[in-house]
Amino acid sequence: MKELFEKNVAWAAAQKEKDPSFFERLLKQQTPEYLWIGCSDSRVPANEIVGLMPGELFVHRNVANMVVHSDLNCLSVMQYAVEYLKVKHVIVSGHYGCGGVRAAVLKQHLGLIDYWLLNVQDVQYIHQAYLTDGADQDRVIDEICELNVIEQVVNVCKTNIIRDAWTRGQPVTVHGWIYGIADGLLRDLNMSISRRDEIRDVYHAAAASIRQRYAETT
Ligand code: ZN
Repeated sequence: MKELFEKNVAWAAAQKEKDPSFFERLLKQQTPEYLWIGCSDSRVPANEIVGLMPGELFVHRNVANMVVHSDLNCLSVMQYAVEYLKVKHVIVSGHYGCGGVRAAVLKQHLGLIDYWLLNVQDVQYIHQAYLTDGADQDRVIDEICELNVIEQVVNVCKTNIIRDAWTRGQPVTVHGWIYGIADGLLRDLNMSISRRDEIRDVYHAAAASIRQRYAETT
C-alpha cells in the first residue's frame, strides 16, 4: 500500500508544478459539463481516456455500465449531476470485450453479480432474433456490448431526471459511446438524444446500424 501513497505524493507535486492554483481552484467548486456512466473495468479510466482533468467529469461506474431503474446509486448520481451540477452531456460508455457482458452472455455463475448481469441478458433477449447464428463468440459479445450501450441510453432518457430537465428547457444530451481497449479509441454509436421525441427514431437507427455492421463483417 505504501507504493500508492508514494505515487499519490508524486502526482500531487507534479500537478502543483504544472498548475500552482490547481487544488485551490478545485477546492472552491466543481463545474463538470459531463456525466460519464461507464464500466468499472480497470482498463477504462474515464477521465484519462477523454483527456479531462479532475473537476471536469462527474463519474458513475458499475459492472457493464448499466442504468437500472431500481439502482438508487446510479439514479442519485444522475439526479445530482443533472439538477445541481447542471451537466450538459450524459455519456454512457461501454467497452469491447466487457467481462460483465461476457459473463451474462455465457451465463457464467459468479455469485451475487449474476443478478446484476440479468439486466445484460435482458438486452441480449431483446436483440436475440437479430444476432447472427454461428458467429464468432467474441464478435457476438462485442455486438451485445454496443447494443447494451444504446439500451442504457434509452434507460437514461426514460428517467424522470432527464424528462423533467427537458420539460423545463434545460439542455441535456444523452450519448452512447464505446471504447476499444485494443486501440484506446472511443467510437460514437450515433445514439445522441436531446429531446424526448427523438428517442424512438435515433434508437432504431442506431440499432439497425449496429446489426448491419456486424452482419456484414461476420
Ligand atoms: Zn466492462
